[in-house]
Amino acid sequence: MPYQNDLLQSSIPLEQKKSNYVNHLIIGLVCAILATASYAFFSIKPAPSTANEIALTIPDITTNIEQPIKLPNPTNTTSEASTPPLETSATPSMQSLSTIWQEHKIKSGESLSAIFSKNKLSKSDLHKIVHANDISSQFAAIRTGKSLMIGLDSAGELSHLTYKKSPYEEIKATRLEDGNFNVELNLKEIERRISSASVIIHSSLFVDGIDAGLSNQTIMQLADIFAWDIDFALDIRENDQFSILYESLYIDDKPIGTGDILAAEFINQGRSTKAIRYKDPAGKVSYYTPEGNSMRKAFIRTPIPFARISSGFNLKRKHPVLNRIRAHKGVDYAASTGTPIKVTGNGKISFRGKQHGYGNVVIVQHGQRYSTLYAHMSKFHKGQHTGQHVNQGDIIGYVGKTGLASGPHLHYEFRIDGVHRNPLTVSLPNSSPIPKKYKAAFLEESKSLLSQLETLNATQIAEKSQ
Ligand SMILES: [Zn+2]
Repeated sequence: MPYQNDLLQSSIPLEQKKSNYVNHLIIGLVCAILATASYAFFSIKPAPSTANEIALTIPDITTNIEQPIKLPNPTNTTSEASTPPLETSATPSMQSLSTIWQEHKIKSGESLSAIFSKNKLSKSDLHKIVHANDISSQFAAIRTGKSLMIGLDSAGELSHLTYKKSPYEEIKATRLEDGNFNVELNLKEIERRISSASVIIHSSLFVDGIDAGLSNQTIMQLADIFAWDIDFALDIRENDQFSILYESLYIDDKPIGTGDILAAEFINQGRSTKAIRYKDPAGKVSYYTPEGNSMRKAFIRTPIPFARISSGFNLKRKHPVLNRIRAHKGVDYAASTGTPIKVTGNGKISFRGKQHGYGNVVIVQHGQRYSTLYAHMSKFHKGQHTGQHVNQGDIIGYVGKTGLASGPHLHYEFRIDGVHRNPLTVSLPNSSPIPKKYKAAFLEESKSLLSQLETLNATQIAEKSQ
């Protein structure tokens, strides 16, 4: 793919290249697992075959369709430490010259008390440290694999104890003149820089995103922001493209990871969708369209992501058995028995039980006007009851074939004011737009982000036409 090299060399800003190695660090084992699962969902079809891709099948969890999994590029999955070696030394800055430091790597199940015993430290010092103040209890939350730095004075007595909770938090105990300990939490300031990337999809959202230096986390975030507009399993095509502005996090000039996406544009099959992050003065963070509408919809389109539709909404369907016109007032999703069914919007369970024909059925009322129905369930989700509030995405039951069903599937209905509507095409209401009192501030703030996105796109288009 010669073009991809072009892309890497010319359109990814310097900032981006610099932070590449952070991404490599982040892509540890956990991410590799995440990515492996995600590749199945985010690859474009038909999947192009390259040397780095191996097709295999995953167990049928949510769908009958077998999806190819693309294994991540081997260069990205070497078993680099999942915790980036950000500081060359965990030595605290305040120390006497005579302090002798030793590192204790915390083993599985090891308590602070056990560590004190192993290092022949005084039990009374341990007691003083853990009871020093409110912060000292955090020493109890030490984690396996991390290190405690033990500082001893010339007499071999404990003078310092430090534990690096995270790249930017360190708990430190220091012996005072009176023999007691002072415990403090040191926070390092995180600097947020804006990075950008502009990517044309040739292989998959993940492969091309990672090639462009994006982290798994950023790519997942991107998919999440656009989830209401783009079906990443089915809609992605070669030459789709996206541009994003996102935060890169630094401590003492060293990259430690990525923060939020600030703005993004995704062009899917020629259709552009833009999203802008806005943090209101109360601290609430959401993504909005440039007009200030929420990127989230009050409803997700489908209760079983990635499932095959076996029968659509059709008011004039000729019934296969009865051989006469009988409306099909919902959509059928074929899926294996036991596949979880997710409620498509926030609401209240108004019915949960058996109804002739529908079998085990759950009906959810969403505000005054909307209701959704989920039929033929093999079983209900445990611990829920009629009248209970449920949130969008909550599992409410499992696919089955109870009632009048020839095979396992979900029959899903969407009603507005009691009238059946086609769940696949009904125009879905947005969840709340930006509050009026913040609208002006949002529009002002988004100006600069939008113009930066525009610039990124212009570069991309210039690239394309070369
Ligand atoms: Zn049906």
